[in-house]
Amino acid sequence: MRIAILSRGPELYSTRRLKEAGEARGHHVDIIDTLHCYMDITRSRPTVRYHGEELPYYDAVIPRIGASITFYGAAVVRQFEIMGTFCVNESVAISRSRDKLRSLQLLSRKDVGLPRTGFACKPDNIKDLIKNVGGAPVVIKLLEGTQGIGVVLAETNKAAESIIEAFMGLKANILVQEFIKEAGGADIRCLVVGGKVVAAMKRQGADGEFRSNLHRGGSATLVRLSKEERATAVNAAKVMGLNVCGVDILQSKNGPVVMEVNSSPGLEGIETATNKDVASMIFEFIEAKARPNQTRTRGK
Ligand code: ADP
Ligand code: GLU
Repeated sequence: MRIAILSRGPELYSTRRLKEAGEARGHHVDIIDTLHCYMDITRSRPTVRYHGEELPYYDAVIPRIGASITFYGAAVVRQFEIMGTFCVNESVAISRSRDKLRSLQLLSRKDVGLPRTGFACKPDNIKDLIKNVGGAPVVIKLLEGTQGIGVVLAETNKAAESIIEAFMGLKANILVQEFIKEAGGADIRCLVVGGKVVAAMKRQGADGEFRSNLHRGGSATLVRLSKEERATAVNAAKVMGLNVCGVDILQSKNGPVVMEVNSSPGLEGIETATNKDVASMIFEFIEAKARPNQTRTRGK
Protein backbone atom coordinates (compact mmCIF):
# COMPACT_ATOMS: atom_id res chain seq x y z
CA MET A 1 0.00 0.00 0.00
CA ARG A 2 0.95 3.63 -0.39
CA ILE A 3 0.78 5.30 3.00
CA ALA A 4 1.50 8.85 4.19
CA ILE A 5 2.53 9.86 7.68
CA LEU A 6 1.45 13.43 8.36
CA SER A 7 4.15 14.73 10.67
CA ARG A 8 6.20 17.85 11.19
CA GLY A 9 9.27 15.93 12.30
CA PRO A 10 10.78 13.13 10.16
CA GLU A 11 13.46 12.69 12.83
CA LEU A 12 11.00 12.18 15.74
CA TYR A 13 11.04 8.69 17.28
CA SER A 14 7.37 7.93 16.52
CA THR A 15 7.61 9.10 12.91
CA ARG A 16 10.83 7.17 12.29
CA ARG A 17 9.46 4.00 13.85
CA LEU A 18 6.26 4.18 11.82
CA LYS A 19 8.16 4.61 8.55
CA GLU A 20 10.52 1.78 9.42
CA ALA A 21 7.71 -0.57 10.47
CA GLY A 22 5.62 0.21 7.37
CA GLU A 23 8.52 -0.33 4.99
CA ALA A 24 9.45 -3.60 6.72
CA ARG A 25 5.92 -4.78 5.90
CA GLY A 26 6.40 -3.93 2.22
CA HIS A 27 4.51 -0.62 2.09
CA HIS A 28 5.58 2.57 0.37
CA VAL A 29 5.66 5.15 3.19
CA ASP A 30 6.05 8.93 2.67
CA ILE A 31 6.48 11.43 5.48
CA ILE A 32 4.55 14.61 4.64
CA ASP A 33 4.98 17.84 6.58
CA THR A 34 1.42 18.78 7.53
CA LEU A 35 1.97 22.54 7.49
CA HIS A 36 3.55 22.45 4.03
CA CYS A 37 0.43 20.87 2.49
CA TYR A 38 -1.89 23.22 0.69
CA MET A 39 -5.22 22.36 -0.71
CA ASP A 40 -7.33 22.95 -3.75
CA ILE A 41 -10.83 23.22 -2.43
CA THR A 42 -12.30 25.20 -5.28
CA ARG A 43 -12.93 22.32 -7.66
CA SER A 44 -15.09 19.25 -7.50
CA ARG A 45 -11.96 17.10 -7.62
CA PRO A 46 -10.26 17.75 -4.27
CA THR A 47 -6.47 17.53 -4.07
CA VAL A 48 -3.62 18.12 -1.68
CA ARG A 49 -0.58 19.90 -3.10
CA TYR A 50 2.94 19.68 -1.69
CA HIS A 51 6.22 21.18 -2.91
CA GLY A 52 4.51 22.46 -6.07
CA GLU A 53 2.95 19.15 -7.07
CA GLU A 54 -0.26 17.26 -6.54
CA LEU A 55 0.22 14.45 -4.03
CA PRO A 56 -0.46 10.94 -5.37
CA TYR A 57 -3.41 8.96 -4.06
CA TYR A 58 -2.65 7.35 -0.71
CA ASP A 59 -4.44 4.24 0.54
CA ALA A 60 -4.04 5.45 4.11
CA VAL A 61 -2.87 8.44 6.10
CA ILE A 62 -1.45 8.28 9.61
CA PRO A 63 -2.06 11.70 11.18
CA ARG A 64 0.51 12.75 13.79
CA ILE A 65 -0.93 16.18 14.48
CA GLY A 66 0.74 18.15 17.27
CA ALA A 67 -1.45 20.12 19.65
CA SER A 68 -0.13 23.45 18.38
CA ILE A 69 -1.31 22.82 14.79
CA THR A 70 -4.65 21.12 15.48
CA PHE A 71 -6.69 23.59 13.45
CA TYR A 72 -4.68 23.36 10.22
CA GLY A 73 -3.79 19.70 10.75
CA ALA A 74 -7.45 18.71 11.04
CA ALA A 75 -8.18 20.59 7.80
CA VAL A 76 -5.46 18.63 5.97
CA VAL A 77 -6.77 15.32 7.33
CA ARG A 78 -10.30 16.34 6.31
CA GLN A 79 -9.09 17.01 2.78
CA PHE A 80 -7.67 13.47 2.58
CA GLU A 81 -11.01 12.16 3.88
CA ILE A 82 -12.88 14.02 1.14
CA MET A 83 -10.52 12.39 -1.39
CA GLY A 84 -11.56 8.98 -0.04
CA THR A 85 -8.27 8.17 1.71
CA PHE A 86 -8.52 6.04 4.86
CA CYS A 87 -7.33 8.17 7.79
CA VAL A 88 -6.24 6.22 10.84
CA ASN A 89 -7.88 8.86 13.03
CA GLU A 90 -10.61 11.03 11.56
CA SER A 91 -10.36 14.82 11.54
CA VAL A 92 -13.45 15.27 13.71
CA ALA A 93 -12.13 12.86 16.33
CA ILE A 94 -8.75 14.60 16.40
CA SER A 95 -10.33 18.03 16.91
CA ARG A 96 -12.65 16.83 19.65
CA SER A 97 -9.85 15.05 21.54
CA ARG A 98 -7.92 18.33 21.70
CA ASP A 99 -10.64 20.00 23.70
CA LYS A 100 -10.47 18.62 27.26
CA LEU A 101 -13.89 19.91 28.19
CA ARG A 102 -15.63 18.58 25.10
CA SER A 103 -13.89 15.23 25.64
CA LEU A 104 -15.00 15.00 29.28
CA GLN A 105 -18.56 15.94 28.34
CA LEU A 106 -18.70 13.20 25.71
CA LEU A 107 -17.13 10.61 28.04
CA SER A 108 -19.48 11.47 30.90
CA ARG A 109 -22.48 11.09 28.61
CA LYS A 110 -21.39 7.51 27.88
CA ASP A 111 -20.81 6.61 31.50
CA VAL A 112 -17.01 6.39 31.40
CA GLY A 113 -15.43 6.78 34.88
CA LEU A 114 -14.12 10.33 35.35
CA PRO A 115 -12.76 12.42 38.23
CA ARG A 116 -15.43 14.80 39.56
CA THR A 117 -14.83 17.84 37.41
CA GLY A 118 -16.12 21.40 37.27
CA PHE A 119 -15.61 23.74 34.37
CA ALA A 120 -15.60 27.49 34.57
CA CYS A 121 -14.74 30.67 32.77
CA LYS A 122 -16.08 33.42 35.06
CA PRO A 123 -17.69 31.60 37.97
CA ASP A 124 -19.84 33.89 40.08
CA ASN A 125 -19.38 31.60 43.07
CA ILE A 126 -15.89 30.14 43.31
CA LYS A 127 -16.52 28.57 46.72
CA ASP A 128 -19.42 26.60 45.29
CA LEU A 129 -17.35 25.52 42.28
CA ILE A 130 -14.76 24.06 44.67
CA LYS A 131 -17.34 22.54 47.00
CA ASN A 132 -19.07 20.88 44.08
CA VAL A 133 -16.05 18.68 43.30
CA GLY A 134 -15.67 17.74 46.96
CA GLY A 135 -13.55 20.62 48.31
CA ALA A 136 -9.75 20.82 48.71
CA PRO A 137 -7.43 19.31 47.79
CA VAL A 138 -8.37 19.96 44.15
CA VAL A 139 -6.50 19.99 40.88
CA ILE A 140 -6.92 23.08 38.71
CA LYS A 141 -6.08 22.81 35.02
CA LEU A 142 -5.79 25.18 32.15
CA LEU A 143 -8.01 23.87 29.39
CA GLU A 144 -5.28 24.30 26.81
CA GLY A 145 -2.34 22.88 28.80
CA THR A 146 -0.18 19.93 27.69
CA GLN A 147 2.63 17.87 29.17
CA GLY A 148 1.53 18.68 32.70
CA ILE A 149 2.12 22.43 32.35
CA GLY A 150 -0.86 24.38 33.64
CA VAL A 151 -1.88 21.62 36.09
CA VAL A 152 -1.83 22.84 39.69
CA LEU A 153 -2.61 21.09 42.98
CA ALA A 154 -4.35 23.32 45.53
CA GLU A 155 -4.12 21.80 49.00
CA THR A 156 -6.59 24.11 50.72
CA ASN A 157 -9.84 25.80 49.72
CA LYS A 158 -8.18 29.20 50.22
CA ALA A 159 -5.31 28.29 47.87
CA ALA A 160 -7.81 26.93 45.34
CA GLU A 161 -9.77 30.18 45.41
CA SER A 162 -6.64 32.29 44.85
CA ILE A 163 -5.47 30.14 41.97
CA ILE A 164 -8.89 30.20 40.31
CA GLU A 165 -9.04 33.98 40.71
CA ALA A 166 -5.57 34.31 39.20
CA PHE A 167 -6.50 32.18 36.19
CA MET A 168 -9.73 34.15 35.81
CA GLY A 169 -7.69 37.34 35.73
CA LEU A 170 -5.83 35.85 32.77
CA LYS A 171 -9.17 35.06 31.10
CA ALA A 172 -8.23 31.38 30.94
CA ASN A 173 -10.74 28.54 30.75
CA ILE A 174 -10.16 26.11 33.59
CA LEU A 175 -11.16 22.72 34.93
CA VAL A 176 -11.42 22.12 38.66
CA GLN A 177 -11.08 18.47 39.51
CA GLU A 178 -11.17 16.31 42.60
CA PHE A 179 -7.60 15.28 43.49
CA ILE A 180 -7.18 11.51 43.18
CA LYS A 181 -4.70 11.19 46.02
CA GLU A 182 -4.75 7.40 46.08
CA ALA A 183 -3.24 7.35 42.55
CA GLY A 184 -0.01 8.21 44.38
CA GLY A 185 1.43 10.40 41.62
CA ALA A 186 1.05 7.60 39.08
CA ASP A 187 -1.17 7.08 36.07
CA ILE A 188 -1.61 4.39 33.46
CA ARG A 189 -1.18 5.07 29.76
CA CYS A 190 -3.08 2.57 27.64
CA LEU A 191 -2.33 2.43 23.95
CA VAL A 192 -5.45 1.51 22.05
CA VAL A 193 -5.28 0.35 18.42
CA GLY A 194 -8.44 -0.71 16.59
CA GLY A 195 -10.51 -1.13 19.76
CA LYS A 196 -7.91 -3.16 21.69
CA VAL A 197 -5.37 -2.17 24.32
CA VAL A 198 -2.10 -3.30 22.70
CA ALA A 199 0.29 -1.94 25.33
CA ALA A 200 0.09 -0.30 28.74
CA MET A 201 2.56 1.35 31.06
CA LYS A 202 2.45 2.85 34.50
CA ARG A 203 4.01 6.27 34.81
CA GLN A 204 5.21 7.38 38.21
CA GLY A 205 5.94 11.02 38.91
CA ALA A 206 9.31 12.08 40.29
CA ASP A 207 9.60 12.19 44.10
CA GLY A 208 7.18 14.73 45.60
CA GLU A 209 5.50 15.34 42.21
CA PHE A 210 1.83 14.48 41.71
CA ARG A 211 2.09 14.80 37.93
CA SER A 212 3.30 11.64 36.24
CA ASN A 213 4.16 13.15 32.84
CA LEU A 214 7.45 11.80 31.48
CA HIS A 215 8.18 15.41 30.45
CA ARG A 216 8.02 16.31 34.17
CA GLY A 217 10.62 13.69 35.12
CA GLY A 218 8.29 10.71 35.57
CA SER A 219 9.43 7.13 34.88
CA ALA A 220 7.57 4.33 33.11
CA THR A 221 7.22 0.62 33.77
CA LEU A 222 5.19 -2.24 32.32
CA VAL A 223 1.83 -2.81 34.00
CA ARG A 224 -0.84 -5.50 33.90
CA LEU A 225 -4.28 -4.03 33.52
CA SER A 226 -7.34 -5.13 35.42
CA LYS A 227 -10.38 -6.09 33.37
CA GLU A 228 -12.08 -2.88 34.40
CA GLU A 229 -9.11 -0.71 33.41
CA ARG A 230 -8.90 -2.40 30.03
CA ALA A 231 -12.64 -1.95 29.43
CA THR A 232 -12.45 1.71 30.47
CA ALA A 233 -9.65 2.42 27.98
CA VAL A 234 -11.42 0.63 25.12
CA ASN A 235 -14.69 2.39 25.89
CA ALA A 236 -13.04 5.83 26.07
CA ALA A 237 -11.38 5.30 22.67
CA LYS A 238 -14.70 4.24 21.20
CA VAL A 239 -16.60 7.22 22.60
CA MET A 240 -13.96 9.57 21.23
CA GLY A 241 -14.06 7.82 17.84
CA LEU A 242 -10.30 7.28 17.82
CA ASN A 243 -8.80 4.15 16.23
CA VAL A 244 -5.33 4.87 17.58
CA CYS A 245 -4.97 6.75 20.86
CA GLY A 246 -3.42 6.90 24.29
CA VAL A 247 -5.89 6.78 27.16
CA ASP A 248 -4.60 8.09 30.50
CA ILE A 249 -6.23 6.50 33.51
CA LEU A 250 -5.93 7.16 37.24
CA GLN A 251 -6.59 4.36 39.72
CA SER A 252 -9.13 5.90 42.10
CA LYS A 253 -10.81 4.25 45.07
CA ASN A 254 -13.97 4.12 42.98
CA GLY A 255 -12.25 2.33 40.11
CA PRO A 256 -10.44 3.59 37.01
CA VAL A 257 -11.09 7.20 35.93
CA VAL A 258 -10.08 8.66 32.57
CA MET A 259 -8.12 11.86 32.59
CA GLU A 260 -7.30 12.35 28.99
CA VAL A 261 -7.41 10.72 25.55
CA ASN A 262 -4.53 11.59 23.24
CA SER A 263 -5.00 11.24 19.47
CA SER A 264 -1.28 11.33 18.58
CA PRO A 265 0.24 9.23 21.36
CA GLY A 266 4.04 9.09 21.44
CA LEU A 267 5.51 5.65 20.80
CA GLU A 268 8.92 6.00 22.43
CA GLY A 269 7.88 5.74 26.09
CA ILE A 270 5.43 2.92 25.58
CA GLU A 271 7.59 0.85 23.21
CA THR A 272 10.56 1.17 25.55
CA ALA A 273 8.59 0.36 28.71
CA THR A 274 6.71 -2.60 27.22
CA ASN A 275 9.15 -3.85 24.59
CA LYS A 276 6.24 -4.05 22.15
CA ASP A 277 6.25 -3.15 18.49
CA VAL A 278 3.30 -0.77 18.59
CA ALA A 279 4.25 0.78 15.22
CA SER A 280 3.75 -2.58 13.46
CA MET A 281 0.41 -3.06 15.21
CA ILE A 282 -0.76 0.23 13.74
CA PHE A 283 0.12 -1.11 10.28
CA GLU A 284 -1.68 -4.38 10.97
CA PHE A 285 -4.75 -2.29 11.72
CA ILE A 286 -4.32 -0.29 8.50
CA GLU A 287 -3.87 -3.48 6.45
CA ALA A 288 -7.11 -4.86 7.87
CA LYS A 289 -9.18 -1.67 7.55
CA ALA A 290 -7.90 0.62 4.82
CA ARG A 291 -10.33 0.63 1.90
CA PRO A 292 -11.29 3.65 -0.20
CA ASN A 293 -14.14 5.75 1.18
CA GLN A 294 -14.08 4.12 4.59
CA THR A 295 -14.08 7.39 6.49
CA ARG A 296 -17.35 7.71 8.35
CA THR A 297 -17.47 11.48 8.45
CA ARG A 298 -16.15 12.13 4.92
CA GLY A 299 -15.28 15.56 6.26
CA LYS A 300 -18.90 16.39 7.07
P1 ADP B 1 -1.60 17.23 30.62
O1 ADP B 1 -2.60 17.07 29.53
O2 ADP B 1 -0.95 18.56 30.64
O3 ADP B 1 -0.66 16.06 30.72
P2 ADP B 1 -3.12 16.06 32.73
O4 ADP B 1 -4.51 16.45 32.98
O5 ADP B 1 -2.88 14.77 32.03
O6 ADP B 1 -2.43 17.26 31.96
O7 ADP B 1 -2.35 16.07 34.11
C1 ADP B 1 -0.97 15.82 34.25
C2 ADP B 1 -0.68 14.80 35.33
O8 ADP B 1 -1.12 15.27 36.59
C3 ADP B 1 -1.41 13.50 35.11
O9 ADP B 1 -0.68 12.62 34.29
C4 ADP B 1 -1.59 12.96 36.53
O10 ADP B 1 -0.45 12.24 36.95
C5 ADP B 1 -1.70 14.23 37.36
N1 ADP B 1 -3.12 14.54 37.61
C6 ADP B 1 -3.93 15.25 36.77
N2 ADP B 1 -5.17 15.36 37.27
C7 ADP B 1 -5.18 14.71 38.45
C8 ADP B 1 -6.18 14.47 39.45
N3 ADP B 1 -7.41 14.95 39.32
N4 ADP B 1 -5.81 13.76 40.55
C9 ADP B 1 -4.55 13.28 40.68
N5 ADP B 1 -3.57 13.48 39.78
C10 ADP B 1 -3.85 14.18 38.67
N1 GLU C 1 -21.20 14.09 16.61
C1 GLU C 1 -20.72 15.43 16.59
C2 GLU C 1 -19.39 15.42 15.87
O1 GLU C 1 -18.99 14.40 15.35
C3 GLU C 1 -20.60 15.99 17.98
C4 GLU C 1 -19.81 15.16 18.93
C5 GLU C 1 -18.61 15.95 19.40
O2 GLU C 1 -18.79 16.99 20.07
O3 GLU C 1 -17.49 15.52 19.11
O4 GLU C 1 -18.75 16.46 15.74
